[in-house]
Amino acid sequence: MAINRPFEFFVQWHLTENCNLRCRHCYQGERSADEMTLPEIQKVISEVSDMVKDWSESYGVCFSPSMNITGGEPFLRTDLFDILREIKKQGFEIFLLTNGTLVDRERAHLLADLGIKGVQGSMEGPEDGHDAIRGDASYSESAAGVGQWVGAGVKSVIGFASHAGVKRVGFSRLVPAGRGRRLLPHMLTRAQVKELYEALFSLELKGIEVVTGDPVAAQMNVEAAKDAGTTAISGCAAGVAGLTILPNGNVAPCRRLPLFLGNVRRDSLREIWAASPVLEALRERDRYRGKCGACARWARCRGCRAIAYACSRSKGEDDYLADDPQCFIETTS
Ligand code: SF4
Ligand code: SF4
Repeated sequence: MAINRPFEFFVQWHLTENCNLRCRHCYQGERSADEMTLPEIQKVISEVSDMVKDWSESYGVCFSPSMNITGGEPFLRTDLFDILREIKKQGFEIFLLTNGTLVDRERAHLLADLGIKGVQGSMEGPEDGHDAIRGDASYSESAAGVGQWVGAGVKSVIGFASHAGVKRVGFSRLVPAGRGRRLLPHMLTRAQVKELYEALFSLELKGIEVVTGDPVAAQMNVEAAKDAGTTAISGCAAGVAGLTILPNGNVAPCRRLPLFLGNVRRDSLREIWAASPVLEALRERDRYRGKCGACARWARCRGCRAIAYACSRSKGEDDYLADDPQCFIETTS
């Protein structure tokens, strides 16, 4: 008998490393021009679609597959709309992540016509702060782009003022990797993260939902009365709910977790998902160390593996199964 609740599976696809901004905290290091071609991309979209259909038939489970399309800046790919149309044709929900600066009226309406599920833009806060991080005049350019897609009726996720018509405010923690590595000494302490999250969740923004993909934030105000078990069911998506494809076809558990799992130009994504030793380790509680490995919330959290890995590397270790060093949650084992 089929299970009614759809299981989520997503591919985060970075189509290009090119970007028209150079943000201080960007996790991207040097840029490469070795990008997959449109036919290569179409082949992989088709493979993922077949894989999800086979899973549904084999396990009697309904999937809700989605693709998060981003870059660099995805609008720098001239074939972006060809790619989006192919993804839509193959039955995926599409979320687009952009800095917003290249979205004009025509592009906003093309996105709306395609039935894009949501567009995520990135604003750092007030204009001065935003421009200091993302570059001069980037605030006004991004704000104009947001205005275009909101005006075209596309759902938006963004840290931005309510008068812009935005419905959700998203936030995430710094991963000290790529250019963001230089910000390592400025990382917030556990206590500061706790204080910040408490303040964010207590904000009363009329008509705006505060959202985050941070598994630690999701544990706030959730009682961990008993151990949630050894099967990962929610929390950090790495190894559990999705994969990341980089512009040259390399596959990683998450864009912020730079572990090489294979390359879709020569490897089957289905085999990577089923047989990668790294993904296997991410799914096994026994392999985790310290506080996370012993935590009753493991099945629903596992911390941010990217932050755990980046911090471990900064200490000369290479441990993606280490503790999330910013976890402030009281845990029981
Ligand atoms: S110890 Fe790890 S698994 Fe437990 S709540 Fe903290 S980050 Fe999550
Ligand atoms: S590693 Fe961090 S950023 Fe990546 S899916 Fe997990 S929680 Fe999210």
